[in-house]
Amino acid sequence: MQNDDAGLLTIEILDASLKGLLETDLLGEVVREGSKDNEHMLNQFDILKINESQQLVSVNRNKLLLLSMLLGEVVFQALEWVFAMEIEGDVDFQKYTTNKQQQQQQESLHIIKLIAKKEKRNIHALLAKLGYEWKDGKFSPLLKTDKKKQPSLGIIEEKEEEEEYHVDLDNWYCDCREFTQKLNDNSQLLCKSNLKVISFNEKSQNNLLWQILFKSPCNQFLPISICRHLLAIFIVIYNYKNYEKIIE
Ligand SMILES: [Zn+2]
Repeated sequence: MQNDDAGLLTIEILDASLKGLLETDLLGEVVREGSKDNEHMLNQFDILKINESQQLVSVNRNKLLLLSMLLGEVVFQALEWVFAMEIEGDVDFQKYTTNKQQQQQQESLHIIKLIAKKEKRNIHALLAKLGYEWKDGKFSPLLKTDKKKQPSLGIIEEKEEEEEYHVDLDNWYCDCREFTQKLNDNSQLLCKSNLKVISFNEKSQNNLLWQILFKSPCNQFLPISICRHLLAIFIVIYNYKNYEKIIE
């Protein structure tokens, strides 16, 4: 199979696997399924009167398997972002659907800023929480009197470390290293006048990912370069209804 065939096929599979990747399960069903052999647990659950209709967002296993076979580890990294990122930018994700009419209205996309908030782990703060301190080259239990010193531990509590990237869907670009590293000597320029590409475009009018790539004013390449951030944004776009439940 030639590079462009494989590149186009990847885009076709991506479109199919991203649709419906995020699913929702009812909390009640999940708990009952997980505790069906434990009557005591089930009773406790009934006593607690938990709101069983609460929805939990999960990932469709078959689609996840297919995506990870296609793209590898980046899929899991992208999902991590989906579940723990902040998105900044005046992008109306709801308008992205696979509906052709709406796609035509989407004249200009904007730059989207993704921010991951990671708490930097501080070993001393963790130890103090467990009641220990590192003293004279060994772990020593924090004495009750020492615990009064704990406010000084505030000094070693570090600020959250922020990681941020900018995704530009208009130009199919992310400013992370992962994105640029994937563009290499094997990348072939996407030639929009190539007959194979024209015919793929005709049958892919509802393939949102392809339409964004194809309409990009910049030169694009096959196989596409896709990093965890671009993929995370596509997971959000393709699954916006369920994504909203994560950020509620
Ligand atoms: Zn990126």
